Amino acid sequence: MATSYNAVAQSGTQQVIQRAKSVLLQNYKQQPVALERGQGSWVWDVEGKRYLDLIGGIATCGLGHCHPQVTTAALKQMGLLWHVSNGFYTLPQIELAERLIRASGMDRAFFCNSGAEANEALIKLARKVQKDRGHPERFTVISFVNSFHGRTLATLSATGQAKYQQGFEPLPQGFINIPFGDLGAVESAIDSTTAAILVEPIQGEGGVRSGPLKFLQGLRALTLKHGLLLLVDEIQTGIGRTGKMFAFQHEAISPDAISMAKALGNGLPIGAMACTEEVGASLGPGTHGSTFGGNPVACAAANAVVSIVDSPAFLTSVQEKGEFFRQGLRVLQAEHPSKIVTVRGQGLLVGLEMTGDVSGPIGLARDEGLLVNAAGEKTVRFAPPLNISYNELEEGLALLGRALRRVA
Ligand code: PLP
Repeated sequence: MATSYNAVAQSGTQQVIQRAKSVLLQNYKQQPVALERGQGSWVWDVEGKRYLDLIGGIATCGLGHCHPQVTTAALKQMGLLWHVSNGFYTLPQIELAERLIRASGMDRAFFCNSGAEANEALIKLARKVQKDRGHPERFTVISFVNSFHGRTLATLSATGQAKYQQGFEPLPQGFINIPFGDLGAVESAIDSTTAAILVEPIQGEGGVRSGPLKFLQGLRALTLKHGLLLLVDEIQTGIGRTGKMFAFQHEAISPDAISMAKALGNGLPIGAMACTEEVGASLGPGTHGSTFGGNPVACAAANAVVSIVDSPAFLTSVQEKGEFFRQGLRVLQAEHPSKIVTVRGQGLLVGLEMTGDVSGPIGLARDEGLLVNAAGEKTVRFAPPLNISYNELEEGLALLGRALRRVA
């Protein structure tokens, strides 16, 4: 018999975990916390314990939990119209496209529901553009070692980490990985089959790692020289996370197309691909689509998100808070030189590389009331709400400090 929601809320964490283990596919490594509600930078579990959430749905709740403006916008839209498919026009979708085009310098937007789906659109776009240019032989996408682009078969093939691919072979053809940051290796790898380069400005899942200075500019130059598309995966870095609306803007380049998802809907599922007029022309009627893509409720939430984040003052505050937080982490590093290797990141996408496996420290942080997650084996990742207060950041550092003192 089904148990009511309230019964779940009143039951202990262990009971919830037991229920989950008996019915959910066991494909996630979940932290042993059953969360019930959230407000701003805080979440509460089913037993009422409060946690400071510095991971925010893995860089997704960019404005914190249940942000009032985003919630109001979604609720208002829910009372008007939920869904009609892309067989019809709806205003929230058009308004969101206008906002994203303005914010990114692109000309056209396509909406979908997740990051992987947005990257699939990038990959399909690249192949179709090359075919339309008279180069059907150009179908290979160059991406980077240690990258992460999603879990569908094509995005898994683009992902430069064997651990995600093992067991799913044979993978789709047409993807090669080059060491991240090595422009010379990229140029050597370009051949008559190359269609595009796909890159994360900062490798998020790969441990919050940036490329060398001007790496994206170098890729832009190479793609222009060889007639390739430059595709930028902004799924983790986009929508203000690094202190610009999109991380490629730190290098003042203009890609052919970008993907985004995560923070766009502040937790409502929505993804998007934005591209130039020239390449976008290749995806004409019937070439690509998604039933739920551009759903009015998700778009209404995303419009509220973008209206808040896309402001110079807000984006500057993200850069300043990121610097403040990294400085605090460096103080902890000085206190624990045998445990912490380095502090990385840009804006409020921050990585703390440790000397050993981070699952222990992450568990200790959780005990102290702090939620973070791992990006790779040795890096603790922080992706707090972009509107987090300085007091909350200080509290996070204090909780982490307590946890680190307990690390053996
Ligand atoms: N690309 C990057 C850079 C990501 O960080 C992720 C998710 O972590 C994805 C793609 C896949 O996004 P999704 O899980 O929404 O499919």
